This record gives sequence, C-alpha cells and structure tokens, in this order.
Amino acid sequence: MTGLSGEMASLSPAMRQYRAAKDAHPDTLLFFRMGDFYELFFEDAVVAARELQLTLTARDKAKSVPMCGVPYHAAESYLQRLLRKGYRVAICEQMEDPKLAKGVVKREVTRVLTPGTAIDPSLGAEQSNYLVSVAMSGLGAATVCGLGLLDLSTGEFRATEFSGTTAWSLMADELGRLRPVELLYGAGLLGGANLAGESVEEDGAGFDGIRTKTAVEEWVFSAEYALPLLRNHLKLHSLDGVGLGGHETAAIAAGALLHYMKATKQGGLEHVDGLRFYERSSSLELDAVSVRNLELVDPLFSGETAQTTLFYTLDACCTPMGKRLLRATLLRPSSDLAEIEARLEAVAEAVGDLRRREAVRQAMHGVLDLERLLGRVALDSAGPREVIALGATIACLPGVLGAVRELSASRWQSLASGFDALEDLHERIAKTIVEEPPVSLADGGVIRAGVNEELDELRELSRSGRQALAAIEERERERTGIGSLKVRFNNVFGYYIEVTKANAKAAPADYERKQTLVNAERFTTPELKEYETKILTAQERSGEIERRIFAELRRELLDAARRTRETARRVAEIDLLACFAHVASLRGWVRPQVDASGLLEFIGARHPVVERRLEESGAGRFVPNSVHLDADAGPSVLLITGPNMGGKSTYLRQAALLVIMAQCGCFVPAEQMRLGLVDRIYTRIGASDNVARGRSTFMVEMTETAAILNTATNRSLVLLDEMGRGTATYDGLSLAWATVEHLHNRIGARTLFATHYHELTLLSERLERLRNLRVTVKETAAGIVFLHAVEAGPASKSYGIEVARLAGLPAGVIARAREVLKLHERAESQQVREAATDYAPAMQMTMFTPLSQRIVDRIAEVDVDGLTPREALHLLAELQQELKG
Ligand code: ATP
Repeated sequence: MTGLSGEMASLSPAMRQYRAAKDAHPDTLLFFRMGDFYELFFEDAVVAARELQLTLTARDKAKSVPMCGVPYHAAESYLQRLLRKGYRVAICEQMEDPKLAKGVVKREVTRVLTPGTAIDPSLGAEQSNYLVSVAMSGLGAATVCGLGLLDLSTGEFRATEFSGTTAWSLMADELGRLRPVELLYGAGLLGGANLAGESVEEDGAGFDGIRTKTAVEEWVFSAEYALPLLRNHLKLHSLDGVGLGGHETAAIAAGALLHYMKATKQGGLEHVDGLRFYERSSSLELDAVSVRNLELVDPLFSGETAQTTLFYTLDACCTPMGKRLLRATLLRPSSDLAEIEARLEAVAEAVGDLRRREAVRQAMHGVLDLERLLGRVALDSAGPREVIALGATIACLPGVLGAVRELSASRWQSLASGFDALEDLHERIAKTIVEEPPVSLADGGVIRAGVNEELDELRELSRSGRQALAAIEERERERTGIGSLKVRFNNVFGYYIEVTKANAKAAPADYERKQTLVNAERFTTPELKEYETKILTAQERSGEIERRIFAELRRELLDAARRTRETARRVAEIDLLACFAHVASLRGWVRPQVDASGLLEFIGARHPVVERRLEESGAGRFVPNSVHLDADAGPSVLLITGPNMGGKSTYLRQAALLVIMAQCGCFVPAEQMRLGLVDRIYTRIGASDNVARGRSTFMVEMTETAAILNTATNRSLVLLDEMGRGTATYDGLSLAWATVEHLHNRIGARTLFATHYHELTLLSERLERLRNLRVTVKETAAGIVFLHAVEAGPASKSYGIEVARLAGLPAGVIARAREVLKLHERAESQQVREAATDYAPAMQMTMFTPLSQRIVDRIAEVDVDGLTPREALHLLAELQQELKG
C-alpha cells in the first residue's frame, strides 16, 4: 500500500478504483458499474439524485458517502435525461466476470457521453445533433475563425471559416443558426480577447444559449496535432481535395472534433467520412436575430407551439432526412440564381403533375431514417431490428428512383442519374437476418436458417435437447406420481427438477438435491446434467456464430457507408422538392420570378403562417397585399404607418418570409412575385430584452441597428419595426429619422420601415425614393375595425387609445387619456404652426443634418452666448445658406 495517500489508503479497494476513475474524468458524472447497478457516489450522487429524482442513500455505516444508483438495464433513459440537461457522463464498466474475478473486479471507463457525442434515440427527427468546435488564429484584420461541425448520429461533418474584423460576429451568427448542443473550444480562447479587443466571457458573444461548453487543452487546436489526425482519419494525403486547402483554421477545428471523439472513446467512426468545406457566400445570409424574429424554425417564445414557425407551415416531408434538409434550407436559403432556378423548375414540374408527384411521395413512405440507422450501425448501437429497418428502408429505394425517373426537369434527372439504390445491401440483409428478429442479438435466433451450416446443426441440437427435456418431465411425473413436478432452467443453477415441499418426500433416491427454497426442493439427475451440457454448449456456440455473422454484416454495411450517405442525401432532396410541390399545389402558391435585378415586388401576397392560422382557427381571411421596391431605380424605402394591431409587423415579416421561401426554391403565397436576389436579410423587430447579458432593451435595439447600418448593402433587405421606441420620444424620433435617411441616401437597400412616429411621414417630401404606406381601419359607431389592407399614403391617426380600449383598459383611464391627448394635440399644433414659419429649416438642420466642420468653425467665431435659442437657430439657417452659396 505504499504510495497511497492517507485518504486513499482508508478507502475500500472498489472505492479506490472509483476515485482513480473520477480523478481521470473530473468534469463528468461517473456511472460506476457494480453488479446489476450503476452507482454514483459523493457529489455526483447528490446531483444525480436531484436531477433524476432518485433516492439518496449512503454507502458506509457512518453515512459519510452519499450514494444513488440506477439499474443497469434501465440506464439508457436516465443517461438521456442527464445529457439533455447538459451533463457529461463517464461510464465505468466491469471489465471481467465478477464470478471469475480474483480480488476486486477490474473496471475501466469505456465511454464518455456528452450532449454532442451521445445519440439520443428520442432526438426529434427533424433536428440535427450538432457538436461544434471553434478555432481562432491571427489578430485584427488578419483574424480567422474556424468552425467544425459534426452530427455523430448522421455522420454529417463540415467545416467553414470566417475572416477579417467581423469574423467573430459572423461566427456567432453561424452558431445562432446551427444551435449546437455542445461547443468545443481551446481552453485559452475564452477569457482571452476577441477580435474587437473585447474580452470574451464564458457566456459572451455568440456562445450564450449553448448549454454545454467544453474546454479542451490548447494544443489540440494546433496545426501540428489536428491536421495529421484529420488526414489519417480521412485517409487523405492532402486536405485540398475536400476543399480545405488554404483553410487551415477550419481544418484545425474539424481535427479537434476527431480528437474529442477519441478522447471520449467513441468507437466506429466509419460513417464520419464525408468532411467538406462550406462557404456562406453562396447563401442568403440570415443573422441569428432574424432567424429568431422571423420564427423560421423555432417559435419566438419558448413554450409556444411550433405552429407559429415557417418550418411547420412548409413541412410536408415524408422522411426525417427531408425534414432535416428543409430545416437547414430555411436557415440557409441559396443566393445562387442557377441553383434556385433549378429547384423552382423541378418544383414547377411536380406542381403541374399530380400523378407523378404523388408517385414520388408514395414511394417515399416506407423510408425511415437512413442516415441515423447507418450512424447506429457505425457506433455499434444498432440491434437486429435496426438492421431490419435499414433493410426495409433500402427496399423502398428502387421505387423512389423509378418515380423520380418519370419526371423530366433537369434537377430530377440529375438526382436520378447515378442514384444508388443499394440493392446489394438489401439483399445481404434480407438473406442474413430473420424477418422479425428479437430486440437483442444476445437473445439468439437473429440469423436466418441456411446461412451457416454449423449454426443450423447446433440449433437442431438444442431444439431436440429441449424436446428431450419435455419428455423427461412427462416421464418423471409418471414415475414419481408427482403431477406438479417441473423441469426448469435458470441462469445460476442451470436445468433442475422442481418439486413442492409437500411432495419432496416422494423424490426418488437417484435425485440429487441442488437447492432448497421455502416452498420447494430442486434436484438434478445425471441424465439432466448431460442434456444441460449439450444444450448450453450448443447455445453458447450458436451465440458465437450469430455474433460473428452479425459483425460481418455490420462491416459490410459500413464499407458501403459513403454510398449510403450519398443516397440519403439524394432522398432528402427529392423529398424536399416533392414537399415544396405538394404544399404549393395544396395552397395555390405561385412560382416566383427570380433574377439579378434590384426588384422586390409582389402582388396579392399573404403571410404563409398567419394565413394558415386564420384558416385553421376560422378567425377570418387573410387580406392580401402588395409590395413594390427597387434597389436600382424606383422606391427603395417603404414607410408604413397605421394603428396598433393594424398589421404592420405582419406585412414586414411577410416580405422577408417570401424572399426566404423564393430563395429556397419554394413557391410563394402570392398572385405574382418578382425578386432580385437578396444577399442578406436584416431585421430589427420588436423589443428583445437581454437583461441577463447586461443590456437594456434600447441598447440591444441600437446594437442591432448599428450592425445593420454598418454592413447592409444595396442588395440587402432591411426590416425595421418600431425603431427608437425604447427611449425618450424625441431621441427616438431623431434616431429613426437619421436611420431612414442613411438607408435611403447611403445604402440603398430595399427597406420596410414600420413606425408610430407620424412625423417621419414628412420624409417623403425630402427623400425621393421613399413612399408612405398605411394599414387601413374603418371607424364605426362601435369603434374601429381593422381592415388590414395596405394602401399608399400616411396614416392620419394612430388609434392607440382605441386599441387600448379594445384591450380592456378601465373606462375611466380611457376617458382621461382622451382628455390628455386633446391637450397635447392642441399644444403640438401650436408648435407646429410656429415651427412651420420660423423653426422648420433650422430644426431639421440641427436635428437631422450632421454639422459640417465649416459651420462649426463659423459658430465658434460668433458670440452665441447672448442669443436666444430662436436667434441661434436663425443664425444657423443663415450660416447654412451662406455656406451653400
Ligand atoms: P403593433 O403596432 O401593435 O405592433 P401591428 O400593426 O404590427 O401592431 P400586427 O401584429 O402585424 O400589427 O397584426 C395584428 C394582427 O392582425 C395579427 O395578429 C394578425 O393576425 C392580423 N393581421 C395582420 N395582417 C393581416 C392581414 N393582412 N389579413 C388578416 N389579418 C391580418
């Protein structure tokens, strides 16, 4: 015992083993196998008992070691619950049969499960389970952020890179879109400085919202270590072939993921074979804020049903692969005209051909999750039933191919040509495994008769053995006269003859006593022993053969992993296109006309989600509306005013959703739509407080607005809803005013700007390419009625008090508010009259025009201290005039 510390020395041998395993995996909950249980001790036990609602007990008499446990056969569901809560779990297994062990049973940590590496069988079919790693190199303008992404359940493996001074925020956006379940980073990255020179806190930019963040030693993120690891795994001499040449930081991030797989002892990574580099430039960029605001895939407020999402409205996919592709496509619509056109053409053909479209969808019906089934085979967690499911799925593929071949659009043709229906694999599975196998390989009877001669013989042997046992039972009953005599089997005692206590005396002399129970005696005989050996040996041997054959089959399936994944990719795309066609024809949507112009024009358009919701709830009909914007010539800014609840936000979101749908290759809910490709959508919608991160509503709003004004281009679509509302009225109004001017004069992006600041409608006189629109209401004796139609012109009133009345504010408050409003309106109209004659030009100058240096210099020359504000403004106007001249 030399060398053990005092504490270790006082522990039992098993607890010493426990300590050593725990020390090697300090940031995990350690599941320590003891017989039929996984036990947890100390702090782990306290945490697990709380999270899993288990009873906390104590291991030792002094009750100083808290303990709890879960039965080994039911561990899976407990593990999944912990992983979903973001914990990491290390599994410490018994490495030898306790019955045969001399001294303490040998134990080892065989696997570490983390949210990003464990495969949760209940994972939503449409969701990906991304583990993401981030690497960084360079500083300032030379900064490069690399991002690697792996979904172990499907084998999806990708990497990308962002560079320049905005690299970090681009990466943060990408993380916002991917929503990984676990993030891996070099231990030195956080707590260091990001590109903007701000320190990156653990919950800092881009990392919040990711529950499990795992720090890995810094050296893992070095080129010397990560790149050879990656090359070896992919069996490549150079990474150029997968598009990673010249993208070292991305490759390092991908390599770090493989390291993590090894460190957590994930076996069988054969299906992780198709690493590829991807770039965002070929896609319509959506930042994390827009993805959230537009409710593309998740509802804005957690707890709401998914029915408010665009994903829900569009999803008619038949397969899990199709659903995942739909989700990914919505988050990354294309900005490649040829790609969009190819999809639209394929969808158009299927829309117009009900019979062929339905044939494709019908063929797809038996297709299960090909990618995930393959993933389970690779990770050795697939039982016989999963393999049968894989076989059944593959059996559907020729049907899918046949149906797609009937369609003639070039995209359908290219999907069909070279489509590998994996017939050889189907045949292999069907010939090897019985049609309805047991859940577990260990139960036996998985491999078909006729596959292996020896197996067939052994099975015959144990079958005849069992028949012989039945005969023995019959014979012994007669011989002893004990009608209740039974021949039975259990794992510990093998075969035995059981006789009740009352009948025990009648047992013949050749019966050997084996075990005494409260109510029964168990015996054996030489004959029984002989059969027992025969049967058990035969079973053991046939178990071995079944395992071997199953392993061979698994290997063959894995050898075809690359082919299978390629087929799965095609199936997903076929499913997606057929889904788009199905939904379009069901809902009467039209093909958008997409080109490289600066147009955004739709006529008779509807918000797909709101329209569906209104229909389903019977609450009314959606009132179609139109938009005409042109970034090159014609109106570039639409300023929308109108009452609360009038439909302004809906109008804005609808424009963004239709653009996204069109660039995904989907038809749109409109009579007509023309769209010049959009490079990026920006949204500033609603108030989203982020107090948790120490930013007020207004600060968040201004940060988002700054991002828009600094990065939007003339090809972007900008949506601003009620900007400037979180601060004092005139500050907000002035900011909104200046923002509109900047978008109009400097950026020229197609912009929809909804506001309650009626003053802004005056801008139409100054800004040539700005148009006023209003959402309409009808005033009736009973109050106002929202018409939801959008028409040209500014709104005349805001009806805020009317809407408050509808919301149920007490009558007294409403009446008082009307009085106060009157007072304010009277005062304001007086001011407006004055301003119109005296102040207007100067006011506008000071409020909305940045003062030029020359004006500032001239003011410095004049003694302004003695002037009244009015005189000061006059002076300013004069100076401006003079300088213009
Ligand atoms: P606020 O200024 O208070 O934010 P808003 O003008 O932005 O209000 P929205 O939130 O867009 O109003 O719309 C209010 C409600 O009106 C929505 O719940 C929606 O269901 C309905 N609505 C909006 N547009 C239409 C339309 N074109 N046809 C039918 N109903 C509509």
